[in-house]
Amino acid sequence: MTLARVSMPGVRPFAPRVSAFSRRFWEGLGEGRLLSTQCAQCGVVSFPPRNLCRACWATDVPWIELASRGTLYSFTRVHVAPGAFRGDTPYAIGIVDLDDGPRLMCRMIGEVSTQHLDQPVEMLVLDYEDGPLFGARVLPTARSDKAIS
Ligand SMILES: [Zn+2]
Repeated sequence: MTLARVSMPGVRPFAPRVSAFSRRFWEGLGEGRLLSTQCAQCGVVSFPPRNLCRACWATDVPWIELASRGTLYSFTRVHVAPGAFRGDTPYAIGIVDLDDGPRLMCRMIGEVSTQHLDQPVEMLVLDYEDGPLFGARVLPTARSDKAIS
């Protein structure tokens, strides 16, 4: 499933360093797909992608496409950021559990509050002038009327 895309202003604040191995991830993201690796021996899915299984050290780790949806496990709102991100404050960073297992951290787009914890999110391609990053946003169908006491 192709990820939804969001246009972002300017260039990436801290562009990723692309290696011969990670190039496939970044090209896939540019095509709207979130890719990673899964061990052919034990089945563990890694994120970020690795050329070696983190569980059994096997080197047969083919590329797979990850789920485009997940659940918001946690988030934080950044008010004081490192220099490269200072112009973006305040912004939210979420921890997302993808529907097919991996837990990842990414920029959250749109409104995020404690009401959105454990709610479904969709993964996004954030299109900057110089290339893509990935992010997530809370799905509009998520409950927003959950009482917090
Ligand atoms: Zn393995």
